[in-house]
Formats: sequence, structure tokens, C-alpha cells
Amino acid sequence: MAKVMILGGTAEAGELAARLAGDDRLATVTSMAGLTRMPAPVAGQVRRGGFGGADGLAANLMNEEYDVLIDATHPFAATIAANAAEAAETAGVPLIKLVRPPFERLPGDWFIDVPDMQTAVENLPENARVFLAAGRREIRLFAERSDLWCLVRMIEAPTPGETMPRGEVILGHPAREPEAEVALLREHDIGWVVSKDSGGRASAKIEAARRLGLPVILISRPDLPDVATAAHIDDVIEWLEDELFS
Ligand code: NAP
Repeated sequence: MAKVMILGGTAEAGELAARLAGDDRLATVTSMAGLTRMPAPVAGQVRRGGFGGADGLAANLMNEEYDVLIDATHPFAATIAANAAEAAETAGVPLIKLVRPPFERLPGDWFIDVPDMQTAVENLPENARVFLAAGRREIRLFAERSDLWCLVRMIEAPTPGETMPRGEVILGHPAREPEAEVALLREHDIGWVVSKDSGGRASAKIEAARRLGLPVILISRPDLPDVATAAHIDDVIEWLEDELFS
């Protein structure tokens, strides 16, 4: 049986694990960073927690005799992506990175590209009402601006005492339908959207901003290592077939 490690923590990684679970030629292990308190269930075996850098990941790949490595982490998870590239090279294990396409750019879009979240904070006009869906480390930065009012969407509730910007928190995943995002932005009189250029399922909020003619401050993607990539799960499955069985 071929052993596959999936570096996960994304919806796509979960979908990939579910697709591969039906293939009895494969044994998959999905690796999660372990940051989420209540992660969604994943098909196949799961391991949690860091490896201790690229060397630790390489050692794990060799000791556990993995045949392939699939990096299906988030496009902004730059450290694990670099570690995966280095570890795969050291361990001699073939690697592919699943990279979802960034948000589509359409004529008339009001997108402001910035290199990082701190620059997004600095670029918002005074007293802006902002919609923010980001990780807790990034959300914290907006608390520096007490003039802002932020509607913050988080998957898990802030912990007591956690630094949060002024405004309101709603809990949940991104809506799939732009109509729901339009209603949310209208209800809270949002004037600005801040988002990583993550692509994927969060695109409904970008479409909602487009429909309402709102400016979107988009955080550019970090540089990723020069490795084989696939944009879709089907391409990864085809690659696996070639690597392992042809
Ligand atoms: P990161 O900065 O690239 O990685 C930081 C460290 O976390 C890595 O050096 C590694 O520790 C550990 N790590 C990250 N992903 C791991 C995985 N799948 N399995 C085991 N260890 C992992 O990562 P991040 O941006 O904090 O993201 C952490 C996780 O959240 C990833 O799984 C990512 O897919 C997911 N996520 C990230 C974002 C985002 O915007 N960054 C959004 C949604 C989901 P060691 O060096 O000790 O191995």
C-alpha cells in the first residue's frame, strides 16, 4: 500500500483526504498544525502538531516511509510550504503543492493590493466600517486603530481577554452565496472589506463587495517555493496515479 502524507488545515485538504479514502491502494495521513480547538473531522488517519521544522518533517517522512507528500496547506502558510519543499528534497519524497487560484479580477473591481495586514490597517481611512475575516493574529492588529469599527467573522470565539478591534464578532464559516454576504455587509453598513487574496470558498464576500461597489483591501500572497503545483484536486489525483502506479 502506498503511503501518502497530506499537509492539511484547509477545506481542500479535507476534500482530498475524503476522495483518497475510497482508494484501497493508498493509506493517507493528514497532518494538522493543531491550532484549531474543534477541527472538522477528516477521512483517513490524522496527526496533529508541528514536526519541528524542515528537518523534523524530513525525518518523519523517512521514518514513517511515506511515498509521496501533498502540501494542501493554505496559500498564506508560507513556513510550512518552505519546510515541505526542503523536507521532500532531503527525504527524496515526491512533492506536489495544491494551490487554489487567487480571487478573480474583473474590470471595474475596486481592489487595493497591499503586501501585508499591517499595511491594510494603515491604509484604511479614518472611522471606516470594515468587514474582516482573518486569523486571530491578524485581527489583533486592527485594535491599534480605535477609530475603526470592525465586523469580525471568526470560526472560533475569541478567548476571554483576547485583544480585539472595536466592533462586533460573528462566528461561523464564510457564506457560500454572495447574496448572504451582501445582506451581511448591508446590515452592518460596511464601507471596506479587508481580505487575504486566499481564493477558494471565501470568494462570496469578494463578489458581494463587487456587487455593492465596495473597496477591497487585498493582502498579496506570500512567495511560495518553486515546486510542482496543481490548482485542483483532480490534478493532484492524476499526479498521484502517475507517481505511484504508472
Ligand atoms: P505556517 O506559518 O506556514 O507554519 C508555522 C508552523 O506551523 C510550521 O513551521 C509547522 O511547525 C506548523 N504547521 C503548519 N501547518 C502544519 C501542518 N499542516 N501540519 C503540521 N504542522 C504544521 O502556518 P500557518 O499560516 O500558521 O497555518 C497553520 C495551519 O493553518 C496550516 O495547516 C494552514 O493550512 C492552516 N490555515 C492557515 C491560514 C492562513 O491564513 N495562514 C488560513 C487557513 C488555514 P513545525 O515547523 O514545528 O513543523
